[in-house]
Amino acid sequence: MTATTISAAARTALTVLYPWRCLNCAAGLASDRAFCPQCQGWIQRIHSPLCTRCGRPFASGVGPDHICHQCLQQPPGFRHARAWAAYNTSSGSPQPLRQGILVFKYARNMRAGKALAGLMARHFSRAQEPDAGPAEDYDRVIPVPLHLTRLRWRGFNQSLILARGIGLRINAPVDPWLLSRTRPTQPQTKLSRADRRANVRGAFRVHTPALAKGKRLLLVDDVYTSGATVEECARTLYQNGARSVDVFTLARVVDL
Ligand SMILES: [Zn+2]
Ligand SMILES: [Zn+2]
Repeated sequence: MTATTISAAARTALTVLYPWRCLNCAAGLASDRAFCPQCQGWIQRIHSPLCTRCGRPFASGVGPDHICHQCLQQPPGFRHARAWAAYNTSSGSPQPLRQGILVFKYARNMRAGKALAGLMARHFSRAQEPDAGPAEDYDRVIPVPLHLTRLRWRGFNQSLILARGIGLRINAPVDPWLLSRTRPTQPQTKLSRADRRANVRGAFRVHTPALAKGKRLLLVDDVYTSGATVEECARTLYQNGARSVDVFTLARVVDL
């Protein structure tokens, strides 16, 4: 047996023993996790002090949570938004979470989706306002919907896969039918904040208002960028009688 065949055999054995790979560096993993310990260590978690409404972390890194200037000026359409980790890290640093999300969404890697959903669910936490008493349960988990044309192109809704992980974790039903996107919208990435709001204005619809009325809802998405999309979703759900709408995303763009 040559060295090449040994290494090929070893690789096969390793694939059988360790079928999971880090979504960033492809190192073999012993369990169905998203990242190896080193890559996971590079991910910048979102932590206090942060804005009690939109979840924006404050650069100072010290002091209590409080409402940010932007939410004071223009209160967001949702009650609270929280995210697990920063989408972007300082330039030059590895970006494992961003890489993992890209593999999931654009390479359509469902193993990546499942691993990220597990990661998100393990780190789910309800927003806790100081002196607000115990956090409430949610009646339904709602994935941010894709328009049918985008859904056909991608083949799946990434938010639904993430929402299923959260639903299992908090024992709440996931409802992908309550909210739908009634028109395709331009990608938000190159738009200003005002243009992002205009771009998604009126783009969502509640199918059965009776199912939203009086309900405590948790919206789930992959990345919180300006918040315009989840704000519009929340506004639509409130217009249809929702009691509360919170947001939880895997990642959040932070101002660096
Ligand atoms: Zn890695
Ligand atoms: Zn805020």
